[in-house]
Amino acid sequence: KTAQRFVENVSHDFRSPLTVIMEYAALISDEIAGPINSEQRNLLGIIDDRAADLNNMVDDMLDASKLESGMLGASRSRASIREIIDRTLASIERKAEVREVNLHVDFPEIVPPVFCDEEKVERVMINLASNAIKFTPHGGNVTLRVRRSGVDEVLVDVEDDGIGIPKAKLDEISERFSQVKSWNVGCGSKGFGLGLSIAQELVNINLGQMHVESEDGKGSTFGFTLPIDDPEVVTRKFLNRLRAVESAPFLSLFQVQVPAYAAPSDADEVRQFLTYFLRQNDLLLPHQADSMLMLVSASTMQMHTFLERLADERERLNRNRPRGPLPEFDVQCIHSQPLDADDEVIISAVRWNSLESEELTHATC
Ligand code: ADP
Repeated sequence: KTAQRFVENVSHDFRSPLTVIMEYAALISDEIAGPINSEQRNLLGIIDDRAADLNNMVDDMLDASKLESGMLGASRSRASIREIIDRTLASIERKAEVREVNLHVDFPEIVPPVFCDEEKVERVMINLASNAIKFTPHGGNVTLRVRRSGVDEVLVDVEDDGIGIPKAKLDEISERFSQVKSWNVGCGSKGFGLGLSIAQELVNINLGQMHVESEDGKGSTFGFTLPIDDPEVVTRKFLNRLRAVESAPFLSLFQVQVPAYAAPSDADEVRQFLTYFLRQNDLLLPHQADSMLMLVSASTMQMHTFLERLADERERLNRNRPRGPLPEFDVQCIHSQPLDADDEVIISAVRWNSLESEELTHATC
């Protein structure tokens, strides 16, 4: 906790002068203080680019510290990959311009919506694209490519024709990408810096998988997958990930019910509260119009502690909430099972909304 607070303070101390530097560079570049020539404009571009790199490093440091203390949550929901990438394009384009690298974007006409934490995907995009631009000489090409992969995933690739990666280092990076439990920044592996470690962890949190291909001297492709927005697909990927990382051997399924008369914004406020409350190894899914499902790694006994914590947090928040208490909602545990039991009960609940099914053990909590 102390180390995390230290990183947060240092990051904050860095962030404000960086913002000022970027704002002043923009003021000069916009000729607010008088006309400038093209060479001066190029130099300002370099200042802006390097300041953006530092900003990115601050983000990496903050993420690293939160990951290590287990405080990095996940706000996953239905999202458009096109919109996510569009939001990162301005800063990637600026970087490509300063480094004189040609940037291409290759999108198919139709891409299904994905289920992810948008902010985390943006961070991964910026990290991979920055690397691609950094390791591609002037006049080279970087392409951001999106494709559908199989029935249940969308694939995002960042391809460059830059310096490439020697075989030994490539093997090391591929090996790390194949491990689900990757968070070991301090291990001193040669191929991995902070940027790729964080990118991999953020992709894992998004229930995706990183990959790399490269040929020394010819270029590299770094990419990642994201699940399409389908509750069954997402749940299966979530359960697989949980089995790989979680030591807690139980899983509980909760239904969160918002009263039928509640406004849609109420349901959204409840969703935001639960997103903030849950950990990255829990899953919150939209369900019926007035309900959500929560998959939490907790046994029947831990479940009661979980519900107590939830109630305490709700009460604490309600006391300090300027807009008044959170909208009403009701949480019920509808099923509990060992993590290695068959997934089908959970999948059928998620798929068919069959919460009244006899298979499910009802227990009002
Ligand atoms: P760093 O912050 O040290 O760059 P990263 O984790 O982002 O750390 O990258 C680790 C290493 O992987 C880099 O130092 C570089 O050697 C290699 N690398 C990453 N992306 C590329 C790329 N697109 N082309 C060539 N090498 C790359």
